[in-house]
Amino acid sequence: MKFLYSDTQDYVDPSYDFINDRTGPDREKYWTDAYAHELMNPAPYDGLLLSMSAIRQAQGVATSKVRYSTKEEQRLLRYGARRFLRFGGPQHKDLMLMGDCGAFAYATNPTPAYSPMEVLEFYCDAEFTHGVSPDHIVFDCDLDNPPQSSVSKEIRDRFDITLSNAEEFLRLSASEDARFTPLGAVQGWSPASMGNAAHALESMGYEYLAVGGLVPLRVEAIKKVLVAIRERINPTTRLHLLGFAKAEKIQEFTAFGVASFDSTSPLIRAFKDQKANYYLESPRGGLDYYTAIRIPQAIENTRLVRGIKRGILSAEDLRRHETTALSTLRAYDLGQASASDALDAITDYHVLLVRASDQSIAQQERAVSSMRESVRRTIEDMPWKQCQCDICKAVGVEVIIFRSSNRNKRRGFHNLGVYHRHVKKTLENAL
Ligand SMILES: [Zn+2]
Repeated sequence: MKFLYSDTQDYVDPSYDFINDRTGPDREKYWTDAYAHELMNPAPYDGLLLSMSAIRQAQGVATSKVRYSTKEEQRLLRYGARRFLRFGGPQHKDLMLMGDCGAFAYATNPTPAYSPMEVLEFYCDAEFTHGVSPDHIVFDCDLDNPPQSSVSKEIRDRFDITLSNAEEFLRLSASEDARFTPLGAVQGWSPASMGNAAHALESMGYEYLAVGGLVPLRVEAIKKVLVAIRERINPTTRLHLLGFAKAEKIQEFTAFGVASFDSTSPLIRAFKDQKANYYLESPRGGLDYYTAIRIPQAIENTRLVRGIKRGILSAEDLRRHETTALSTLRAYDLGQASASDALDAITDYHVLLVRASDQSIAQQERAVSSMRESVRRTIEDMPWKQCQCDICKAVGVEVIIFRSSNRNKRRGFHNLGVYHRHVKKTLENAL
């Protein structure tokens, strides 16, 4: 089972100065930055997924969904995604590069944003190894399997468009001699309709199917969908799960013949999750999670700056506590301060941080003590010292500090590496 990371242009500055919180003197965005696979050996994933809607602006695609500038799009298509992503070294040459349309970005359009021919040309120019047929999202998966006659015309249209696009896409990719492996996109309004779609795609000639629409579904619902699909297709037909947000439950999916899936969640959780920010392999098997230590930059935090203006906080006090929190944590890492010194210094800074909020005194106290409890375990266990990945070896304690994207993304890269090993082990155990 291959784990693909869906590219969201995540790179960090290798020359970042953690002590002064400054980018390197010659830093140039993208050009001198490094992707996770450039910093880590082996790469922390089996491949990358790129969505066309994140790269190319089209009618109905929200500007906020397009991550690439026009120049970047042109460069990617001129040189191919492997060269653009610097994913072409000998150690990467066999790793997958999958393209899909990123249908969520144009979900409100009556029809998909790109034609099958446009998608085919895009995949060929980007030199992807795998390409998903242009689909249209069918909302609301009803697990009770309502028949086709009882669903709205709009849903039936989206279902039909996805299948007719897949048919044309497969025909074009054969006639144009495309060098990538085509995947047929499965969409539906229920497990049974997705089983029907999978069967139809297989009859067209697809040997690899990409199951969409899973993002909002719970684990049990996804399993129902996969059972319904597997019942209608050959055991040799491979499945890819698009946007698999339940990544930490992957061990429950080994029985469904899933060849690959893509997810961003290990990276995103490094800075979006309330508590589970840093992954570690548990000695009991599975994954263990730690809370990152929040020491935000006072001068860059609008709430704090407002607090200073309102006279609730003193800029000098903030800076002093921020510096002490950082230096005590670093001293603790070197064995020159105790765990309780580090915990106290961080708590003192947090007392100031919550003072700028609109919470009552009681709420502020609760917020500080809950932070203290979740961070205590992180400090005492020092998980960053247990990890041997290239990120943790290079930056040590900085990886656990929740502060600036250069630390937060590195923690995300580390999570991808831990998660990638976890998937491999899960698979070995299943076999
Ligand atoms: Zn690590």
